[in-house]
Amino acid sequence: MMQFIPITREDVSKRGWSELDVIFISGDAYIDHPAFGVPLLARWLEKHGFRVGIIAQPDWRTKDAFMALGRPRLCFAVSAGAMDSMVAHYTPARKLRHDDAYTPGNRHGARPNRATIIYTSRLKEAYRDVPVIIGGIEASLRRFAHYDFWEDKVRRSILFDAKADLLIYGMAERPLLEVVQRLHAGERIQDIRDVRGTCRVARTGELEDERKNDAAGTSVVEIPSYETVCADRAEFAEAFRLFSSEHNSGSSRMIIQPHADRLLIAAPPALPLSEAEMDAVYALPFEKAPHPSYREPIPAWEQIKTSITSHRGCFGGCAFCAIALHQGKTIQSRSEDSIASEVRDLVDKSWFRGSISDVGGPTANMYGLSCGNPEAQRSCRRASCLFPAICRNLASDDRRAVRMLRRVRGVDGVKHVAVSSGVRYDLMERQAGYFQELVGHHVSGLLKVAPEHFAEHVTALMRKPGQKSFESFLRRFREESDRIGKRQQIVPYLISGHPGCTLADMLELALTLKGLGFQVEQVQDFTPTPGSLSTCMFYTGLDPDTGNAVHVPRSDREKGLQKALLLWHQPAERNKVLEALRELGREEVAAVLLGGVKRIPDGIKEKTDAAARRNQRGDRQKGATSKHR
Ligand code: SF4
Repeated sequence: MMQFIPITREDVSKRGWSELDVIFISGDAYIDHPAFGVPLLARWLEKHGFRVGIIAQPDWRTKDAFMALGRPRLCFAVSAGAMDSMVAHYTPARKLRHDDAYTPGNRHGARPNRATIIYTSRLKEAYRDVPVIIGGIEASLRRFAHYDFWEDKVRRSILFDAKADLLIYGMAERPLLEVVQRLHAGERIQDIRDVRGTCRVARTGELEDERKNDAAGTSVVEIPSYETVCADRAEFAEAFRLFSSEHNSGSSRMIIQPHADRLLIAAPPALPLSEAEMDAVYALPFEKAPHPSYREPIPAWEQIKTSITSHRGCFGGCAFCAIALHQGKTIQSRSEDSIASEVRDLVDKSWFRGSISDVGGPTANMYGLSCGNPEAQRSCRRASCLFPAICRNLASDDRRAVRMLRRVRGVDGVKHVAVSSGVRYDLMERQAGYFQELVGHHVSGLLKVAPEHFAEHVTALMRKPGQKSFESFLRRFREESDRIGKRQQIVPYLISGHPGCTLADMLELALTLKGLGFQVEQVQDFTPTPGSLSTCMFYTGLDPDTGNAVHVPRSDREKGLQKALLLWHQPAERNKVLEALRELGREEVAAVLLGGVKRIPDGIKEKTDAAARRNQRGDRQKGATSKHR
């Protein structure tokens, strides 16, 4: 018999309970699967003996829906859902979306903007004295003062705006369990101050002694205050540089950020889960289905129902991605046994037809990898183990990943296994075994890879490997596909409008793509989502690592022209392409992009590259005069 986590009082009493210990509030529909954070954590607490319930997508207009399961004995745990609610609701052009993949029927409007803040406020109206702990990606990436693209301003740490009692950032298994166990043992929430992976609010002065005793900064690091980062963009960049390098490392230092007369105090990040702990999490008794009360399909479920998470974490450090700030840089992998066991369960599902849509994590080919020098890792402050060059300490042996993929393919009832999570092709240069496995067995006709750009100074800002590495991968991919007799292609994912990228850079990219034989159908317009390095560059116009100024495409017009240059072959973009070429004084390129000229004439590409280099020098010079640190 199926047993979901209780969502009604009737479910609670059927279990013979009069109350719950912890009630989760979620901005997503309830799908009982480990790909969704709230059900995963609810099952985790349940395994440790706590009585838990879930209120999914409550009507936030009154407090009534938040009282549906009564008053919890220990606390509420709030998450806006798998995405930041503002990212879920608005397009990169700040236009309202009409869909929501995490809601039955793909309907928009089942959760509010800034869901973490609104949910907490309703809970405090309903039960003023019950502790509220906020977590999930929205709370995690807004834990420090941050730039909010939708209001175009710097906001305080979300902990102040939400008025919650505690914030859990990153992966929450360890911190949430510890906090709940301590509440159960009778501690008050305001006395729980030392749990790794949490942020709390303190009065100024509370830490004076600690600060004085720590003149060397070995246990505490103070970053520029909210007021300072609001007033000075260079200080904002510096605060970002400090907290991101601290939380990307195996840090054990506390971070303090003053906000007016109070302090945001972030304890060091939670320790990564061991393989055995990861296996224990994924062995929890999930129903692997949406709650039966839903009558309409949920797109997010259709997307992930046949996918398997092999690991967490990413050491790639791409500037536009905040995953490392949430999941950490350390790869936390499941054992091959645990993965194979999940695949066997999947095969037993009546709806499974033999195809696994993905086996991966944030970056598929990082499964089983780690830093090969634990001592260096302890003091390492690098945001990326791959950029600007692959660190010599990285243990990039791919044998474990190869064994895992073979094991998954070998499960009875599995006909095909795709790898559709992203891959880092610079890393794959060292992973010949994984490369052959991938190309030979795990591409469903098209392999999506993400060079994002080819202009060297843009890929440097993005911390991506660049054109040469992509071309080398492309050549190997085409050769290997030919060798094994498979007709399969690469689809490059690209970003327009990224900080540092000019119209001339986009023309360079368009011509390179054309030269390589690509016509892309989709281009991602850069969105400054909370917590990423690129968002910091977007807001400040500075590269926090160097202090150099970067060009930031801001106007809809410039962003539109940049995007159009990559979609040159689409008739709807023709006028914008002409406008962009006129602006660049490069009308002669129209014949190449729009006139169907197959081979790019000599001189065209060189002139474009030279223009992009001139832009880059201009940015650096501007940077030399900007205030930084
Ligand atoms: S591999 Fe290198 S960059 Fe990565 S954690 Fe180890 S020492 Fe740091």
